[in-house]
Amino acid sequence: MLGAPLAAAAQTSGFPWPAGKRFAVSLSFDDARLSQIDVGQRLLADLKLKATFYVSIPAMLKRLAGWEQMIRDGHEIGNHSFTHPCTGNYRFTRPLEDFSIEEIAADIDRATAEIESQLGVRPKSFAYPCGQKFIGRGRAARSYVPLIADRFQTGRGYYDEMPNVPSVCDMAALMGTHGDGLEFPAWKGILDKAAGEGRWVIFAGHEIGQLGHQITSTETLRAFAAYAGDPANGVWLDTVSAIGSYVATHRA
Ligand SMILES: [Zn+2]
Repeated sequence: MLGAPLAAAAQTSGFPWPAGKRFAVSLSFDDARLSQIDVGQRLLADLKLKATFYVSIPAMLKRLAGWEQMIRDGHEIGNHSFTHPCTGNYRFTRPLEDFSIEEIAADIDRATAEIESQLGVRPKSFAYPCGQKFIGRGRAARSYVPLIADRFQTGRGYYDEMPNVPSVCDMAALMGTHGDGLEFPAWKGILDKAAGEGRWVIFAGHEIGQLGHQITSTETLRAFAAYAGDPANGVWLDTVSAIGSYVATHRA
């Protein structure tokens, strides 16, 4: 009878996560905010949590030795563009609406070159600044997802509603789950649901410190480390590139 396995597949993703794992989680942090080094480096090492850091170059240069330590600690460094362009509605950068594909490509490649020359690693992962994946406006607007697919193993969005279904997700447009400003029970609600459905949650945060706007709480991270460390929860925690490699090679 096919009924039972099909019903099970409809409930879970049906994706072959490694033995004993029900779902996957990546922690990611954007912009090379200084608290990621000043607070996060020691905390993540103590908690044995690995993360992916999508760095902004000017901020990265302010804590270069700290970022070298992050790499030695096993964290991943990702590209987050050089000038962090977002829609003009945000009013803090040159608007994406005014970019050409060639200009956004040059901005991203400039960041890769800086990361390689300063830290000696070539980023495999990219996070879209503000989660926005277009350039131009109206009939001239274009997606820049293909450009990310050409250059990186993964591209991550921001403030997306659902975590990734590994069998169907676009590796160049992965869903990013907002993780800042939440106490652990809110994370646990997201995690328990993802576990039941075999999904891949990629939390996206900014500062690391006391709970607040654009701050992932140290207490939430401590509680998450305990949760992830309990084998009964079936969590596979790893960097975006580690889980991305697995997903890319284990789906039909
Ligand atoms: Zn950012």
